[in-house]
Amino acid sequence: MTVRAGREFLSIPGPTTIPDAVLQAMHQPAVDIYGGGLPQMTDSILADLSRLFRTKGRSYIYIANGHGAWEAALTNVLSRGEKILVLESGRFALGWGEAADRLGIKVEILKGDWRRAVRPAEIEERLKKDKAGEIRAILVAQVDTASGVVNDIPAISRAVKAAGHPALLMVDTVASLSCMKFEMDEWGIDVAVSAGQKGLMTSPGLGFVAAGARARAIHPKADLRTPYWDWTAREGEEHYMKYAGTPPEHLLFGLRKALDMIWAEGLENIFLRHRLLAEAVRRAVSVWSEGQALNFNIAEPGERSDTVTTILMNGGRDPEQLRKYCNDKCGVVIGIGIGALTGKALRIAHMGHVNAPMVLGTLGAVEVGLNALGIPHGKGGVQAAIDWLGEQVKP
Ligand SMILES: *Cc1c(COP(=O)(O)O)cnc(C)c1O
Repeated sequence: MTVRAGREFLSIPGPTTIPDAVLQAMHQPAVDIYGGGLPQMTDSILADLSRLFRTKGRSYIYIANGHGAWEAALTNVLSRGEKILVLESGRFALGWGEAADRLGIKVEILKGDWRRAVRPAEIEERLKKDKAGEIRAILVAQVDTASGVVNDIPAISRAVKAAGHPALLMVDTVASLSCMKFEMDEWGIDVAVSAGQKGLMTSPGLGFVAAGARARAIHPKADLRTPYWDWTAREGEEHYMKYAGTPPEHLLFGLRKALDMIWAEGLENIFLRHRLLAEAVRRAVSVWSEGQALNFNIAEPGERSDTVTTILMNGGRDPEQLRKYCNDKCGVVIGIGIGALTGKALRIAHMGHVNAPMVLGTLGAVEVGLNALGIPHGKGGVQAAIDWLGEQVKP
């Protein structure tokens, strides 16, 4: 027996729910790549991306996922044999570092902990020891989607400046752009990367990079540049070369619509909506955790991301039963643990095109599962989420 007919709720941290309007915008015939309004659309999207990253620098669009955007960022500013520092706080900066290693970059990992954010003081200490200035770039994820942490990017940037170190600061915003505040120029970020399928509510397949003045000044000397990723090749007047070939037309139609939706709602409301819905999830998890069977992966409340909540199962309890119950019985898809949390955690995403009923529905299904499977938990998690929203969302 199941209660899962109707629309499936996709509550995983990417890809996220694609709005119907975005799907509909994609449902049209292909157009001439030399006309059909595409050059104007590209210009408008590039301008909007820089507006989202909050930079006066340039943005670039790649037909790629986040992994592609990582490679684009690395190859445009680094050379073989150069060294970088990767700030661990989960899976994703490490993955970016692994890509760098494969490209022939020397990678040093600043050891972190999967249960907490990067500590800015540790970065300052490490950089002060690098008297020769060997470290050329620092890689960090704003939100690590595996651990559920949000790193304090402005504090990290201040630590780099306090050490008087010239390394480029490169930030992965795949799981935070257009969901949580990101201020590329104001925070002193040199390179930012993102992708279309999370906060940007678009089909997977688009990767984005934004580059500030310092990164663009180093770019001509980077010997890892390749024809496809190269910024210079994409900066010319010729529209075709802005994609190093045929533009991803339908992905662009979808993205254009998603960006229109973002401006129509306004970034301030989007950030607030994410914070309120994230806190609703946290209120529920906090109550459930009283049963001792599960807990937040991120120990410090202030370090929990507003886009994804990672729930650790205690005492070696397998999270798969609960995940499967939510999916098979209730039609709610929640995320599995990945990396070091494989087989140990569940992830509830609250990222992108989400509203109160989607989040409350997801939480409700999880609570149904906790009850049905006899997993000990504090009673009233969903009620706590409802109470929170009722207090905060004023008439
Ligand atoms: C999803 C994600 C990525 C990887 O994106 P793909 O599109 O799967 O390559 C990178 N970084 C973060 C923080 C992510 O959440």
